[in-house]
Amino acid sequence: MVPVTPPILPGSTVGVLGSGQLGRMFAIAARQMGYRVHTFSPDPDTPTGQVADAEVVAPYEDLDAVRAFAAGVSVVTFEFEIVPFATAEAAAERAPVRPGGAVLHTTQHRLREKTTLAAHGFPVTPFRAVRTADDLRAAARDLGLPAVLKTASFGYDGKGQVKLMTLADGEAAVAAAPGTEWIYEAFVAFEKEVSVVAARGADGSFAHWGVIENRHANHILDLSVSPGDVPPDVARRAVEIARGVLEQLGVVGVLCVEFFVAPGGSLMINELAPRPHNSGHLTIDASRTSQFEQQLRAVCGLPLGDTTMHAAAAMTNLLGDAWSAGEPNWAAACAIPGVKLHLYGKADPRPGRKMGHLTALAATPAEAAEKAVRARAALARRVR
Ligand code: AMP
Repeated sequence: MVPVTPPILPGSTVGVLGSGQLGRMFAIAARQMGYRVHTFSPDPDTPTGQVADAEVVAPYEDLDAVRAFAAGVSVVTFEFEIVPFATAEAAAERAPVRPGGAVLHTTQHRLREKTTLAAHGFPVTPFRAVRTADDLRAAARDLGLPAVLKTASFGYDGKGQVKLMTLADGEAAVAAAPGTEWIYEAFVAFEKEVSVVAARGADGSFAHWGVIENRHANHILDLSVSPGDVPPDVARRAVEIARGVLEQLGVVGVLCVEFFVAPGGSLMINELAPRPHNSGHLTIDASRTSQFEQQLRAVCGLPLGDTTMHAAAAMTNLLGDAWSAGEPNWAAACAIPGVKLHLYGKADPRPGRKMGHLTALAATPAEAAEKAVRARAALARRVR
């Protein structure tokens, strides 16, 4: 297909709002293809800044600095949806922002996201908006207990979430944070959690990496396995839903749809991430085109790359906890054939902080998962 606008070619500069590990892996892919990368965030010496050509340090609210940043690049993308909408809008005055700010606006607010998805007929977890104790009681009456109460804005990795076993749990949370906008969700007794990481090009083309199966620990992604163990018709439906979401939102770039698979195989969208996603990190080592290269291709208007997976793969996150007994034993993990180490250049290994990940490649998903878990365990082995 012919791109609708002339592509932004290698040698051009791509701007990234945000400076974490997602921006870092994007910048590595971009530099490999001969692009320059500028990053903008409030912090110095960041995972993205360490590999970018330029690191601009300013608050997201400094819209003049944002405009000056955007004026110096050919296209702006963001690595994390917590970037304020106004920042994306200010950038858009000087350069194309992809995906567009409207995608950011929809996906950075759980209520807006679920309401939009439901309005377009996509299956979502049953939910209600809650501001007051009365709303809470009505939601509990409609959807029952247990439930999950989540703040409508700025939640990720389980932040801003309370599991409700009783109405009193919810009343306490609502009373403790007056004026907060919440989303009340029925607790889904899911069989598994899966994601579809997908991309839409500037010309409307679509690509995906199939269904990835995810396990969480303490609300943070712990293990991803590809291909996910779901029946073919469930996989087909998940991909079709993802395709519909990217089209409906007019995404140009990568977007991840996270699903719950209920007993019987029905799918419910838990949330969207309008960017490369933690569960897609295994595409770096296991696919002909990684999610980060795909993001670059999409935002630059190049043809999307081939997403064939050349191995089964599993990814385990490395949290700061892995440093609790000193420097992890990197050699022990790297000694396992087919294991690849990715570290994000973060200096302070706080518990719960994402410091890096390990990807294991193997002949089957089960073997890859076993190997990834074994490689992570090997990090704790004493260095001799
Ligand atoms: P989230 O921040 O919404 O992605 O939630 C983080 C994790 O909490 C999910 O991956 C699930 O494991 C769990 N969770 C969130 N919402 C629900 C729900 N409605 N029912 C059951 N588990 C949930």
